[in-house]
Amino acid sequence: MSVPTIDLFSDTKTRPSKPMLHAMVAAETGDEQAGEDPTTIALQERVASLLGKEAALFVPSGTMCNQIAIAVQCQPGDEIIADKTAHIINFEAAGVAVIARAMIKPLDGLRGLFSVSQAKEAIRAGFRHAPSSKMVSVEQTANLGGGSVWPLEVLQSIQELSAEHNLVTHMDGARLLNAVVASGVSAADYGATVDTVWIDLSKGLGCPIGGVIAGSQDFIDQAWPWKQRLGGSMRQSGILAAAGLYALDHNVKRLAEDHLNAKNLAIQLAQIPGIKIDPTTVETNILLINVADAKLSAYDISEKLLLDGVRIGAMGPDIMRAVTHLDVDEAGITHAADAFKTICS
Ligand SMILES: *Cc1c(COP(=O)(O)O)cnc(C)c1O
Repeated sequence: MSVPTIDLFSDTKTRPSKPMLHAMVAAETGDEQAGEDPTTIALQERVASLLGKEAALFVPSGTMCNQIAIAVQCQPGDEIIADKTAHIINFEAAGVAVIARAMIKPLDGLRGLFSVSQAKEAIRAGFRHAPSSKMVSVEQTANLGGGSVWPLEVLQSIQELSAEHNLVTHMDGARLLNAVVASGVSAADYGATVDTVWIDLSKGLGCPIGGVIAGSQDFIDQAWPWKQRLGGSMRQSGILAAAGLYALDHNVKRLAEDHLNAKNLAIQLAQIPGIKIDPTTVETNILLINVADAKLSAYDISEKLLLDGVRIGAMGPDIMRAVTHLDVDEAGITHAADAFKTICS
């Protein structure tokens, strides 16, 4: 299949830019497994400080960040409270069951966000026939929730609740920096509400690979053997870490453009008969487009869009998901909206 020119399937579809590639080529490197890669160490220090944590660890993917955080903090048979749309439930090949051997209690939140009272109700009473509640996990932003942003106050209340019940807190921050740019709340302020938090370099930040998980020094000391065990230790990873450092310098503030593009796409799509989307719910770079009332199914629309060089994924027969990122500009957004309009009228 030829690659669509306007690829709104995901913000993972970005290619490393020329200047990012130059930064990678120029990176100082060493053996990362031995703690000798200076660029990786610099990235880890940079992210630890960004997230307000003592230490951080560079790993190949966001999935590995989640799995390590859970494996370190949960025992087999423990239970994790999370929204039903969570990545750890839907897209990690049941890693939580296989690796940490924990289970997840899915909550029926709104746009990927659950309330403090829902979390409270989900905490087990300590009855010996029940699993033991151990962790509360939030996704900032909530991916399948449509890029929604957890308000700082709600996270703080969840943290208080968790402390009262001896639970640890984890933030899947794949798109935390989108939340930071959209809300003006610092990454460290969000980070302070959880024990462990990570960012994905390969989403809207435009890197080819990588996630960085942060927490206390004690957590990172325990994370290292898990990284090794899962095959996540690397060698001259400085070439990848250099892309991450480049992205943190150049690709964070500009996330605001992606948010503006997403909002504009939502406004244009909302005018098409049969398409339901409320532009006021588009807070960051993800749009959930309801096509239940359109003449064609989400799958058919998706296929027809491709013929016009636009890729937007179907998440079922009625819902499509579009994700804006640094490789799609304003003209691309207009083209996508026009293609949608032609297909649906
Ligand atoms: C993409 C994503 C992940 C996993 O990150 P990978 O780098 O693809 O492994 C985890 N959580 C959320 C919310 C994501 O969107």
